[in-house]
Amino acid sequence: MLVSKLPSVGTTIFTRMSQLAAEVGALNLSQGFPDFPSPQPLLDAAVRHLQAGHNQYAPMTGLPRLREAVATKVAALYGRSVSADTEVTIVPGATEAIFCAVQALIRAGDEAIVLDPCYDSYEPAVELAGGRCVHVPLNLPDFSVDWQRLSDAINERTRLIFINSPHNPSGALLSRADLDQLAALIRDRDIYLISDEVYEHLVFDGASHASVLAHDELYARAFVVSSFGKTYHVTGWKTGYVVAPPALTAELRKVHQFVTFVAVTPLQHALADFMVEHPEHIAELPAFYQAKRDLFCDQLAGSRFAFTRTPGTYFQIVDYSAIRPDLDDVAMAEWLTREQGVAAIPVSVFYQQPPAGMRLVRFCFAKREETLLAAGAKLCAI
Ligand code: PMP
Ligand code: GLN
Repeated sequence: MLVSKLPSVGTTIFTRMSQLAAEVGALNLSQGFPDFPSPQPLLDAAVRHLQAGHNQYAPMTGLPRLREAVATKVAALYGRSVSADTEVTIVPGATEAIFCAVQALIRAGDEAIVLDPCYDSYEPAVELAGGRCVHVPLNLPDFSVDWQRLSDAINERTRLIFINSPHNPSGALLSRADLDQLAALIRDRDIYLISDEVYEHLVFDGASHASVLAHDELYARAFVVSSFGKTYHVTGWKTGYVVAPPALTAELRKVHQFVTFVAVTPLQHALADFMVEHPEHIAELPAFYQAKRDLFCDQLAGSRFAFTRTPGTYFQIVDYSAIRPDLDDVAMAEWLTREQGVAAIPVSVFYQQPPAGMRLVRFCFAKREETLLAAGAKLCAI
């Protein structure tokens, strides 16, 4: 009998809820992905590069011109000059990057701190590397960091801290002052960071993203991970990148070359073309998604769900205490999907120990106007 290395892991909540939504024909506001088309020039570029024969292995570290485009963006947005050769790596998705960074860092017995609720891939990656996750809950209701609890969780076995801003599932943002606090906590310790910034451009109401890339002290010990999937409406392309100082990048690449070796070649070409030819895409992204958030939230204002408009990501958390306080959030997500025709993600699954009585589900508003209006109408009728 094979003894599982991940005994407590099942199929992810995203797969389960998307499957259920398809089965019962519900509007799928659960798993995070757009239901609108990807930018036409990006699709045209992909076809062009497929037809032009760009179908063999790219360089292991990523196409040089795509790494250059990332370095140019990092300089423009975060004021950091990074080497495209030694600090930028193109990867097949942020998930792969996170896994590789964890393998590069974690040894048996090491501890990694995660801030709950946290993205579901972090802990299995740490466990497969022989480490252990220490879970520190974020403060409710605003999902801010409890600095005292984080400080208390750090010990001589701590090797890694995960941060994620804008934060999935809550949308909460870390500020520059938060990053300074974190820097003070780990100063003079042998602790590294994975900064999951896949929603870096999805920040609303005029706020700006406080990237670890703009923080000298934190960047010196960080893997900063981003995802072209979120930024360019192509989650199925599974292409992302990591920016890290040369010594960390070298270790990441040692793992990456034996996990997948490379990201997909024609898609890298297409992304490089699009980044160079359409810099306005990134600039317009906050307003684009803020309009979707507001359309969805304006609808929800007429419902019995309680919420505060999310400051980032394409997710909106809502409290359903006034509707079905008798259901826990897993049951509620299922009820919403089966009985009300709108699929959601329960928030408790992102916790080791969900707060007692928490009644929150997450909706994704990366959807066409008609999907958001149809979902809004159904949610208001409950
Ligand atoms: N981190 C977070 C917080 C995410 O929400 C996602 C989403 N899908 C990922 C990482 C993984 O991104 P990718 O699809 O590029 O692997
Ligand atoms: N990140 C996406 C979400 O939070 C899902 C990605 C996945 O299905 N693994 O919905």
